[in-house]
Amino acid sequence: METAVDHDAETIVTVIGVPTGACPVCGSPRVETRYGPSRFAECPACGLGRVLGYDGGRADYWASKETSDPYWADAKRRYFLSALAMLPRGRLLDLGGGTGEFAAIALEAGWDAYSFDTSPEATAAARARLGRRALEVPAGGFDVVTLWCVIAHLPEPGQLLESARTALRGGGTLWLTTPNFAFQRRYARLLALVHRPLLFGTSDDHVWHFTTHSLRRLLEAHGFHDVRFHHRGVIEWCSTGHSSSRLLISGKRAWNSVVYAGYRLGMPLATSELQVTARLPG
Ligand SMILES: [Zn+2]
Repeated sequence: METAVDHDAETIVTVIGVPTGACPVCGSPRVETRYGPSRFAECPACGLGRVLGYDGGRADYWASKETSDPYWADAKRRYFLSALAMLPRGRLLDLGGGTGEFAAIALEAGWDAYSFDTSPEATAAARARLGRRALEVPAGGFDVVTLWCVIAHLPEPGQLLESARTALRGGGTLWLTTPNFAFQRRYARLLALVHRPLLFGTSDDHVWHFTTHSLRRLLEAHGFHDVRFHHRGVIEWCSTGHSSSRLLISGKRAWNSVVYAGYRLGMPLATSELQVTARLPG
């Protein structure tokens, strides 16, 4: 039996009375939900969503991360620098660093920056950019570890946080970004209404969708504390890139400008991605 959760969009968002096991973050029973054509196992208690029917690991993922659009290339650079400005300066590891794009900007900005990725193709590209700073095996003792949109892609997000914890020194700082499900599911509902459905999973390679509550809970379960959320504009490729609609692209740019201006004025607005710092005990 299907129950509409939103009368304005009852054909688009449905909760289906099928239990999908316990939430791995909070242990509550999950239910199946649907946003447009995409299906989720969703936790009503902490808000965590797991895409159903997709397990990650799209082969051409790295190609989709590069952007040739000057607006988004500039927005991304500005955002990388604004994140660095708020982190404690020291030895930095960009974990899941892909082709080394962020580590290269951190190096330029004077950081002792390194990158590590499990993908051999990405590591080869990072070597060309960073030389020996593109690590082939993960190291430890870092002051800062960054996870730019990594946790959403992996089947076991807890294992990733353990890797981050192992790479950090005691008292070290984690920076993490991931899509904000509280935002994305509303956005998906809106796009489905105008017949431009978001294809979670197959199009963005995201398996997990976190909310502030579920992410804080997972971080604390893995030994992090002082968890803080930041809102500094967006660089998420799924929210920024490849849209065939000029109207959507303009809308995304306008939204990003408003969010970034809000951040600069000290009025942070919730964004389509969660941006988090957390620390290990000293
Ligand atoms: Zn939960």
